[in-house]
Amino acid sequence: MNDAWEALAALLRRSQRVLLFSGAGISTESGIPDFRGPNGVWTRFDPSEFHIDRFLAGEASRRRYWQRTTAFYQEIVKARPNAAHAAVVALERLGKLASVVTQNVDGLHQLAGTAPEKVVELHGTHRFVSCLSCGHTHPRAEFQARVTPEGVAPDCERCGGPMKPATISFGQTLKPEVLAHAQTEAERCDLFLVVGSSLVVYPAANLPVVAARRGAALAIVNLEETPLDGYAQLVLRAPAGEALSGAVALLAADVPRSAAPRPS
Ligand code: NAD
Repeated sequence: MNDAWEALAALLRRSQRVLLFSGAGISTESGIPDFRGPNGVWTRFDPSEFHIDRFLAGEASRRRYWQRTTAFYQEIVKARPNAAHAAVVALERLGKLASVVTQNVDGLHQLAGTAPEKVVELHGTHRFVSCLSCGHTHPRAEFQARVTPEGVAPDCERCGGPMKPATISFGQTLKPEVLAHAQTEAERCDLFLVVGSSLVVYPAANLPVVAARRGAALAIVNLEETPLDGYAQLVLRAPAGEALSGAVALLAADVPRSAAPRPS
């Protein structure tokens, strides 16, 4: 695959502001299943189980929601960043990374060492819980310890409202300020690099279009076809870890040690 890694390295080489747009596929090599891939969550569960209406449909329904989200959270906390997350950190150290806009809710980019201020979490995070009534936010780990095996979760300590993982569930709208931040990053980047996303979830999937309209190059690393493949300068049908670490290693080999920006 050396030619493929070199093609991606060449795009990275001529870019100064890379926006890394990640989806669930970047974390499958960490052991977290994606939604729509061949072994995705949707092969086992009905997506409507995760709709906000289920959460709001009464006590019994909310308990089932908490039981399911607890199972997913346990997969997330045992996962460790993989070679693809590490390559994104290396890209940042090479001075190329403007931002990471992620649809993921696993916090693995930050755990790998990407600067938290560079990460835009479009769909929120499982690492926190927040109150649906007043917005009070609390770290998940401490809260999760108080959720019973039957799925009974404590109410908000501030207002008594229902606490939910701080993710955007089906049926919830994205936070306008978070979406606006992602759009600004898309408008400013010169390379929009998609990694592990089916590009079918909106409004996230519109961001590559925003970037391309402003003249950015589009590259897609994904195991399966996406609806935007025809618009991309480069499509690599390859595992994220291999593709990113292969390309970033080639890029790093260009930079004399003394000239590389020091990690902050
Ligand atoms: P998706 O499940 O729709 O698509 C994932 C894509 O990644 C698939 O096309 C699959 O072929 C590809 N893929 C899987 N493993 C790969 C690998 N190793 N290398 C390269 N490509 C790989 O995911 P999406 O587009 O992010 O869909 C959106 C929703 O999924 C988001 O809302 C996100 O919140 C949610 N999600 C997140 C996580 C997570 O945080 N890790 C996990 C599951 C779902």
